[in-house]
Amino acid sequence: MPTRVYKGYGAEAAVFLAARRRLAIRSYPVLPPERGQVRLRLLRSGICGTDVHILAGRLALPGRELILGHEFIGAVEALGSPRLRDGLGLRLRQGDRAIACVARPCGRCFNCRRGETASCLAFGVTYLRDPGEAPHFHGGFAEQLHSPAGNLVRIPRGVDLDAAAAFPCAGPTAIRAFDFAGNLRRGELVVVQGSGPVGLFAAAWAARAGCVVVVIGSGSNPARMKLARRLGARLVLDYRKVDAPARLKAVRALAARLGRGDGADVVFEASGAPTAIPEGLNLVRTLGRYIVPGQYSSSGGVEIQPQLITFKAIRIVGSGQYKLADVGAYLRFLAADRGLQRIFAACITHRHPVGEAAAALAAAAEGRAVKAVLVPR
Ligand SMILES: [Zn+2]
Ligand SMILES: [Zn+2]
Repeated sequence: MPTRVYKGYGAEAAVFLAARRRLAIRSYPVLPPERGQVRLRLLRSGICGTDVHILAGRLALPGRELILGHEFIGAVEALGSPRLRDGLGLRLRQGDRAIACVARPCGRCFNCRRGETASCLAFGVTYLRDPGEAPHFHGGFAEQLHSPAGNLVRIPRGVDLDAAAAFPCAGPTAIRAFDFAGNLRRGELVVVQGSGPVGLFAAAWAARAGCVVVVIGSGSNPARMKLARRLGARLVLDYRKVDAPARLKAVRALAARLGRGDGADVVFEASGAPTAIPEGLNLVRTLGRYIVPGQYSSSGGVEIQPQLITFKAIRIVGSGQYKLADVGAYLRFLAADRGLQRIFAACITHRHPVGEAAAALAAAAEGRAVKAVLVPR
């Protein structure tokens, strides 16, 4: 349980104490935003797998104390300068809802100069500041957030808050990866490895692109398997019950029935398990695309059969970060489909106030949650 180290007047934040790998709930004064900055009031703040990795010590960050959380959605309370615009050029006004992104591409490196800001060579992150330093609320696990206006993406009217909060990081991650791989064509067979947020979103995206979708997931959380179906997967395979040879057989049989080639047109790796890679190389068809955005932390190596890449002429496409335009694409995708919004909203299974951030992180870490979010008190 987190301890209340200091309880003053203001708003609460869950501060990550790096040395002890735990959270402390602290209160800081709510200050006016600095020039070019926007202060937002918490509406939803998602727990991401990355946060779980950081808390478990598998991903190191500089700094002794910081406020984690990069999936903050808030209502604009105050603007630090008149006529501020969000990262996509839209005017921001009090009361607007916006997603706050934390990545700060440098704008000057080889990749940024070519518009490839998702692959910046000198990324900064807005939340790497000591919360003791004013205006205190630098990260997402808090009741307030101070963000540069250019890191915000305004949420269009008609987009449900819970729906937007379901995949604000996983969605753009998948969208960028699909884009790098030349996107999808109607009728393609797409196998998604993994039933976490990135995998579930990828399944929804592919199904709505008119593809036939297979999800290989873990039945340890049956809610995820059910959601994969609701999001449009034709076939959902529990990897604990259906072994790798049977999975390969099922995918090849489906490809044959659909009149496709010797496997899936596209395999999308969203499990983060290195062992998924040799299987993906088997599942993808000759001349198919293998998209790999899911290997987010170092989980060791794995043996592959490189001749498969050669003989099947497989295109392997990696993808790490996303750009603000991908967040815009995520919101447009949602805005266009009310039915999908209802299913996305149902993905939020755990809600906790900031003071119970540790409980929300535990629900995510133990796989009990499809999506855990922090909400206002
Ligand atoms: Zn994330
Ligand atoms: Zn750069």
